[in-house]
Amino acid sequence: METPCRHLVVVLGDQLDREATAFDGFDPEQDLVWMCEAAEESTHVWSSQQRIVMFLSAMRHFAAALEEEGVPLRYETLREGGLADALREVIAQARPQRVRLTQPGDWRVMQALRQAAGETPLDVLEDRHFLCSTARFAAHARGRRQLRLEHFYRAMRREHGVLMDGEQPCGGAWNFDADNRESFGPDGPGFLPPPTRFDPDAMTQAVIALVQARFATHPGQAAPFGWPVTRAQALQALRVFVDERLEHFGRWQDAMWTGEPWLYHAHLSAALNLKLLKPREVIAAAEAAWRAGRVPLPAAEGFIRQILGWREYVRGIYWLRMPDYAEGNALAAEHDLPAWYWTGDTPMRCLADAIAQTLRHGYAHHIQRLMVTGLYALMHGVQPQQVHAWYLSVYVDAVEWVELPNTLGMSQFADGGLLASKPYIATGRYIERMSDHCRGCRFDPGERVGERACPFTTLYWDFLLRHEARFASHPRLALQVNNLSRLDAAQRDAIRARARRVRDGSFA
Ligand code: FAD
Ligand code: SF4
Repeated sequence: METPCRHLVVVLGDQLDREATAFDGFDPEQDLVWMCEAAEESTHVWSSQQRIVMFLSAMRHFAAALEEEGVPLRYETLREGGLADALREVIAQARPQRVRLTQPGDWRVMQALRQAAGETPLDVLEDRHFLCSTARFAAHARGRRQLRLEHFYRAMRREHGVLMDGEQPCGGAWNFDADNRESFGPDGPGFLPPPTRFDPDAMTQAVIALVQARFATHPGQAAPFGWPVTRAQALQALRVFVDERLEHFGRWQDAMWTGEPWLYHAHLSAALNLKLLKPREVIAAAEAAWRAGRVPLPAAEGFIRQILGWREYVRGIYWLRMPDYAEGNALAAEHDLPAWYWTGDTPMRCLADAIAQTLRHGYAHHIQRLMVTGLYALMHGVQPQQVHAWYLSVYVDAVEWVELPNTLGMSQFADGGLLASKPYIATGRYIERMSDHCRGCRFDPGERVGERACPFTTLYWDFLLRHEARFASHPRLALQVNNLSRLDAAQRDAIRARARRVRDGSFA
């Protein structure tokens, strides 16, 4: 029988930070770290192979660093079953006085571990990785009927002194979107700085082989794999982004181009969400680049808003509203997710491109997620929980606290407008404006009915018809709904008929 330990410190796959609260007061003479690769974490949603490699490889590298430091560690390589059973077993063996855990990124995991701890006291500690604690967010939300990013973001800028000139925002404005968000134009992006990719070392190669064997039927592919899996790699990726791409981040933040997955984005979300990087250091690097005159203010501000604003804001909403938030379906959407979301096998060129790169790299940038895959699912009327399961499965950066509000709230309007002020709906014209996809597509974004009608355009009009009563006096959607008054009964019927064919897949 083992000598009982004082603290059993649980480190989950998205908590790879030696400075996390769970390590506070760690004493190698009395305490033990526990990490576990539980298969259920890759199967409770049908996790893509790329995502599984990301988590397991980063966990193994973190464990190796702890061992090198001499930290007592019990590391369980891939085992069948869930985290809760595994925790029960290790508690029975190590008999700790207390279990310590930094707040997990997933409500389901938190409940499971609380139960598994049983009689042993479990300390769930605030996650100081984030700039806004859950209590601070709850205070911000108190008494507000609607939560809007802009109020929260300004408060965060003031509280953390980010891009501030005394009491005023640097440059005299909080937001420079008017200078951002261009498309590339007909000739495309031209030269693009290459993304920072890392050759898999022996440890990552072993994980790739494991995933290809154990999770062979899971979507996407395990290789090629080039994501940062250590803190040193993540810091290098941050440095290169700031030096080579941040300058153009804002300007082309929303642009898309066929066969170009990386563009001027940071590709840092997985490193941030697994806690290889701290948001404070990412924000500081962007602000310093602006203050040194290396990047324009709209680029730095646009980038910082994503992290200090959106990232903190969606986390606040997640912990404020779970578990009910996950059940939201304000628009009563009831269709199944089309099977081609798992393969990319669709004649719609924009979707085929976004899904192919998603399955290959576990990555798509924000506008591809919001205005291609998300927009289509919203207007098709896919049941939001199925959309949520897809997004949680396929991206290397997917952790529920950030994925769920983005999917259910921002993209599918399933929370009825708590997070976003209106549903993001658009015809194929939006995609035509922001990309080259429509040029090579058999559909025409300008057509809403007929054999060449773009499914986005058909479904846009069908969405307005289906939700006419609900949004007729909505302050931000009424104008769009009003356009329905120009349609006679025959035109409405034609849209509905074409939408039925889009939904049942007989449109192409
Ligand atoms: P960049 O575009 O370069 O942005 C910089 C950083 O800002 C990102 O690394 C990320 O940390 C942060 N960020 C940007 N937008 C958001 C946002 N809306 N919410 C929170 N953080 C943001 N992001 C995830 O990290 N995990 C997810 O599972 C996830 N699921 C999403 C699902 C949907 C339907 C949508 C619309 C968005 C989702 N996002 C998610 C947000 C965003 O798309 C990704 O953070 C971003 O595309 C990651 O790529 P990047 O690192 O190149 O980001
Ligand atoms: Fe996508 Fe429609 Fe454009 Fe085809 S025409 S690429 S389906 S938006």
